[in-house]
Amino acid sequence: MAAPWLRLGMEQFFKMPAAMGRQGRAYSTSQTFAEVLRLPKKQLTKLVYPLQELEQHLVPDSRPDLHLRVFDPSLEDISRAESVFASSARNRIEYVSSAVRLDHAPDLSRPEVCFIGRSNVGKSSLIKALFSLAPEVEVRVSKKPGHTKKMNFFKVGKYFTVVDMPGYGYRAPEDFVDMVEAYLKERRNLKRTFLLVDSAVGITKTDNIAIEMCEEFALPYVMVLTKIDKSSKGHLLKQVLQIQKFVNTQTQGCFPQLFPVSAVTYSGIHLLKCFIANITGNLN
Ligand code: GDP
Repeated sequence: MAAPWLRLGMEQFFKMPAAMGRQGRAYSTSQTFAEVLRLPKKQLTKLVYPLQELEQHLVPDSRPDLHLRVFDPSLEDISRAESVFASSARNRIEYVSSAVRLDHAPDLSRPEVCFIGRSNVGKSSLIKALFSLAPEVEVRVSKKPGHTKKMNFFKVGKYFTVVDMPGYGYRAPEDFVDMVEAYLKERRNLKRTFLLVDSAVGITKTDNIAIEMCEEFALPYVMVLTKIDKSSKGHLLKQVLQIQKFVNTQTQGCFPQLFPVSAVTYSGIHLLKCFIANITGNLN
């Protein structure tokens, strides 16, 4: 990890006077991180550190398996990462181009992160959530069967590029897989691959194809568990423990810590943004 993660005492934030009278408020896209910091501690933990919130419901025996704090940024770090994802005149966040072939992809001047997952896993919703502070960015969704799916490139200021890879699944033609494979294998500025798994469903056969690809090419990748708002806490815990066990025992290149997220409640989104800012070298 680039920097030692000095966790600022959360208490410092809870002493802010504006914390008064905001109990129980739900999160929304328009809520700034400064407002998130004023949430009551329990709500804040659930929103910002969802895995740590889940930890409280685990029997002590299962805790050692769960990697909770490999990446453990302070709220101040997370707040700084928010500014990387906020569009402004000086930090333009925008769609750049789409490509069906790697040689049509934009230049390699910035570090890149990509998002892969089977169709319907919640990929476009997650990317929209990451870009919620740049609402003018249109995350294109192409769902029509037979419609050519493309790699979509988004520029995040001068910092890095986000690539939305075509979703794959049992209906996806071979060339989707070929496109994803060529990209993962050859893209030199690719810093990290985010592999999305539906937390309500767990790792499917289709997900395994992507996992095997990442392992085969020795890519550093991260497992993001989507739609965590959909399951009961019990079901979510069961899935998280199963997926964690899989990561611990069956993978080499996967980051040990899981990133559970919801594009509906925004739980885990801030932490993921901070992780992306960090691995692309933009959290100094
Ligand atoms: P994609 O095909 O992977 O891009 O998936 P989408 O982002 O289009 O999402 C597929 C479906 O799942 C849509 O109906 C979304 O509304 C729903 N969805 C996506 N993310 C979430 C989430 O975090 N929570 C819930 N409850 N539904 C979600």
